[in-house]
Amino acid sequence: MDLMNEKKLGFGCMRLPLLDKEDQTSFDYDLICRLFDNYLEKGFTYFDTAYTYHGYHAEEAMRTALVERYPREAFQLATKLPLRDFKDSEHMEQIFSEQLQNCGVTYFDYYLLHNMGSNVYDKCCKYNAFDFAAKKKEEGKIKVVGMSFHDMPELLDEILEKYGNKIDFVQLQINYIDWEQPNVQSRRCLEIANKYNKPVAVMEPCKGGTLVNVPEEAKSLMKEYNSNASTASWAMRFAASQKGVFRVLSGMNSIEQVEDNVSSMLHFKPLNEKEMEIIEKARNIINSKTAIACTACSYCTHDCPKNIAIPQYFALYNSISNTTGSFSSQMVYYNNIAITHGKASNCIGCRQCEKACPQHLPITDYLKDVVNKFEKNRIIPTRK
Ligand code: SF4
Ligand code: SF4
Repeated sequence: MDLMNEKKLGFGCMRLPLLDKEDQTSFDYDLICRLFDNYLEKGFTYFDTAYTYHGYHAEEAMRTALVERYPREAFQLATKLPLRDFKDSEHMEQIFSEQLQNCGVTYFDYYLLHNMGSNVYDKCCKYNAFDFAAKKKEEGKIKVVGMSFHDMPELLDEILEKYGNKIDFVQLQINYIDWEQPNVQSRRCLEIANKYNKPVAVMEPCKGGTLVNVPEEAKSLMKEYNSNASTASWAMRFAASQKGVFRVLSGMNSIEQVEDNVSSMLHFKPLNEKEMEIIEKARNIINSKTAIACTACSYCTHDCPKNIAIPQYFALYNSISNTTGSFSSQMVYYNNIAITHGKASNCIGCRQCEKACPQHLPITDYLKDVVNKFEKNRIIPTRK
């Protein structure tokens, strides 16, 4: 299958509409069905879910709202193996069977190793998760194998070098704010995927909604250039314009969002030079309003006796400050970074870092804020 010929807009089903926000299983089926119908009517077919979404009930919702209402060939279904959850090879088999049952299908069009990162990589090697997916593909139960990735480009390089022959595509967090952020490094991860000729599906193109509600100053720049284009459409087109990107996922919660995404992706045009300049300016405006004015120069980390990932943690903190909804993806990154670095709470207050910081930031104070956001009342996994 040539993934690059696929239609680019995918329906992300991580946050489906609910009747009660406190109850992750209170699916608003009336609205979900209308959203799915509208999206399919426009000729798009790709739905992305996972075993763990909605408190482990999202796959059942997909069966009700999609699988039981459409012929199997009318849609493409992607789901994921929960790498944190599985215990051993037998358990992977059990989960996979359960997923087929949850979704009410006999095969998955796309199946991803979910949230690959340093915290689960060793386990995946030990229990041959890559071979497991490849075997299911041979058996015809998966058509295309992928891996969603939330870690540093060096690890992506290592994995694709070793297991690239078993992975058809990579799912990455790509948006114009995270493009150069040290904690995500969208651009460098994308370059690694390009190096191995792996098509890329994009998650979080609007950074959890942050790039829908940008500061007024940034919005005006976009409106001046094109009064009809929404701020979300700029973010979607930025992601879709990148080399090797075959799909951009968007979690759509209203008919207006479906129509807006469809209008920018149906006859997709990559951003031109002028539009890229506007994105660059918007990025600077958004960054100038961030909570910690860290430039990610990393001078502070050289002499830190606790090897604390200061700029990465500050970038995560900033991205939370810019986020209106939940910050589960930043939490995942925090946990992954804390496997190989000191946690913010490991700081002993020696202030070596502050002496080195060209921005004169009160780093030790900010680290306390980071602890409050990311560690309070939580157990952070550490390297054994
Ligand atoms: S004050 Fe904390 S973060 Fe800074 S160098 Fe010392 S241990 Fe590292
Ligand atoms: S030295 Fe200062 S500006 Fe540079 S990465 Fe560290 S905290 Fe950020």
